[in-house]
Parts: sequence; structure tokens; C-alpha cells
Amino acid sequence: MNTAKKLDIINDHFRFELTETDKVTHIKLMGIIDEDTDFSSLLNLKNSAIVFHFQEVTSINSCGIRTWVNFMKDLQGSTIEFAECPPLIVRQMNMVPSFSESANISTVFLPYVCNDCEHEQNILMSVIDYKKGVLIPQMMKCGQCNSEEMELDGNAKQYFAFAK
Ligand SMILES: [Zn+2]
Repeated sequence: MNTAKKLDIINDHFRFELTETDKVTHIKLMGIIDEDTDFSSLLNLKNSAIVFHFQEVTSINSCGIRTWVNFMKDLQGSTIEFAECPPLIVRQMNMVPSFSESANISTVFLPYVCNDCEHEQNILMSVIDYKKGVLIPQMMKCGQCNSEEMELDGNAKQYFAFAK
């Protein structure tokens, strides 16, 4: 399998890493999505299957959301997957349906906070499993103090509102 990796620096607060395999292009987004984010270099990819990895997106503002929604329209016809969406992206998917309209969302991070030591940890959850009825735990073991008191911040139904 041929894979090519390429880092593309868009501006001083946003860049992405492109990994192209024979059939799929993986795009890891990193930094802040705002009015300065230019996605045009991603419009002529060789693969029509694209997986966006959102784990390292640190913030998105309203201009960034508009830019993203337009970018999604430009990609119409492609097969799009969203993976590793942090809570700030899940929030947008739930508030702005066109943010992820044409995408298959595969995994999201849910925020947990430990009641004992206040440690915060995002835990990766499978959307496919959730749709199959796998329960999202309200409590988890804390990665820092090992107590069983690390609690989901909010409720799973809210976070998965997009998955109806
Ligand atoms: Zn703890």
C-alpha cells in the first residue's frame, strides 16, 4: 500500500496533516478553525473517501463554522467520515446540522471529571456501538487517582443528539 504523509501549514494557528493511502485520505486537523482557515488545498484530493480527525482541534468560532460548512458543500460527492471529535466539535454537530450533514460520524470524545481529584479526561466512544444500544457509562475509573468516581459531565443523550 502506498502512503504519503504531508504537513500543510495554513497559518500560525492552524495546520493539517494529510495521509493518503490507495483508497482513503486521512486529514488530521490541528489548531483553531476561524476566518483565516483556508481549506482550498483540500479540494482536489485523489481519493473520494476522506476521514477527518478532529482530536487536535482546539477551538472553532462562528466564522470558522461557516467556513467549514461551505467546505463540506464543496466536498459533496465524497464519502466523508468524522473521527475522534472532541466535545467542542460534538457541540457544533448538535447545534448546526449542516456542520456534519453529509458525514458518517464514527467516534467522539466525551468529557469526564473525577469527583475525587477533579482530573478531567476525554474518553473515546464509538458512535456505531451507541447506535447499536451499547450503554455509555456515567461513571468511569479515574486515570489519575484510580477512584471509580470519574463522572460524565452531562448526559450521554445530549452528546449523541446528532446520532438520531
Ligand atoms: Zn481522580
